[in-house]
Amino acid sequence: MANSGFEYVRHFEHHDAIPPSNWIVVRIDGRGFSKLCKKYSFSKPNDQRALDLMNAAATEVVRSLVDIVLAYGQSDEYSFIFHESATMFERRAAKLATTVATAFTAEYCLQWPTFFPEQQLSRPFPTFDGRCVAYPKRKILRDYLAWRQADCHINNLYNTVFWNLVLKGEMDGKAAEEALKGTLAADKNEILWSRFEVNYNNEPAIWRKGTVVYRAYDAEEGGTRQSGDVEGQRSSGGKGLGGGVSEGAKGGSKSQLEKERKRKQKARIAVEHVDIIGDGFWEARPYVLA
Ligand code: ATP
Ligand code: ATP
Ligand code: MG
Ligand code: MG
Ligand code: MG
Ligand code: MG
Ligand code: MG
Repeated sequence: MANSGFEYVRHFEHHDAIPPSNWIVVRIDGRGFSKLCKKYSFSKPNDQRALDLMNAAATEVVRSLVDIVLAYGQSDEYSFIFHESATMFERRAAKLATTVATAFTAEYCLQWPTFFPEQQLSRPFPTFDGRCVAYPKRKILRDYLAWRQADCHINNLYNTVFWNLVLKGEMDGKAAEEALKGTLAADKNEILWSRFEVNYNNEPAIWRKGTVVYRAYDAEEGGTRQSGDVEGQRSSGGKGLGGGVSEGAKGGSKSQLEKERKRKQKARIAVEHVDIIGDGFWEARPYVLA
């Protein structure tokens, strides 16, 4: 149909490519999960099966899209970080967000029976919305990730106290909410300890910190690679799976690009529940944002 009289309709599309040299975050979030939690009787405040399922789905998304360097998840959300040099879909925002959200949704629904063998999934099936945000500096990307992990902590501390008051303290929701009004973190820790003998710091790390999923190159070729290598290979631009990119957009030869893609595909996918607000995680793994 090329050059048919209908072709002009293409001009109604808008250009949504994310500018070069920006880190691209695709955040997906479960639709109506407050309701879904009730439908499938998630345990409160943290249903471990549901968290494991989120992490399993995210791991497959990271594995299949080689331009993703790291993902961070908590509750019903996951943020996928595409390297600043990513070329997938020519960096078009809608294509990136929809591909990640649909890949995640497919994994979530298909893997559901593994984590909830007793509860059959029924309509309305779980779905996830997705959005793209561009961050022009590593520092801002780090702040973005810190913001999500701080959110995880704040919500989890609140929810842990709330559900202790309801489940063990025999308060109704309203009373628990009232008891928590205006309390600071220290007050919440104190309520947990004095009333329920719960030391918040001993709660599972996956609940307090959320989950980090990343391509790990630690064991590769007998040890640490030089950062110069990473820079050189990365700047040649990797081709994402299924991403229609022009070959060697940034000058890398076809075989170099292919080699780099294979290296990413072979990388171990690490799943950890650790602090990513401080510098420790990043200093120990400089290749992640190299
Ligand atoms: P929206 O469609 O606007 O996102 P939502 O109901 O999904 O609406 P969120 O703000 O995304 O609202 O909140 C997700 C809800 O799901 C929270 O109440 C959270 O506690 C709950 N939730 C998510 N994961 C779990 C889990 N593993 N265990 C228990 N509750 C969970
Ligand atoms: P991209 O990821 O860029 O979309 P693509 O390989 O999906 O790449 P499209 O332009 O979307 O490329 O083309 C879809 C291809 O799938 C076409 O070759 C089309 O003929 C084929 N296809 C789609 N549906 C069917 C079908 N029902 N039967 C046979 N072939 C199909
Ligand atoms: Mg929401
Ligand atoms: Mg939600
Ligand atoms: Mg949410
Ligand atoms: Mg297609
Ligand atoms: Mg098509």
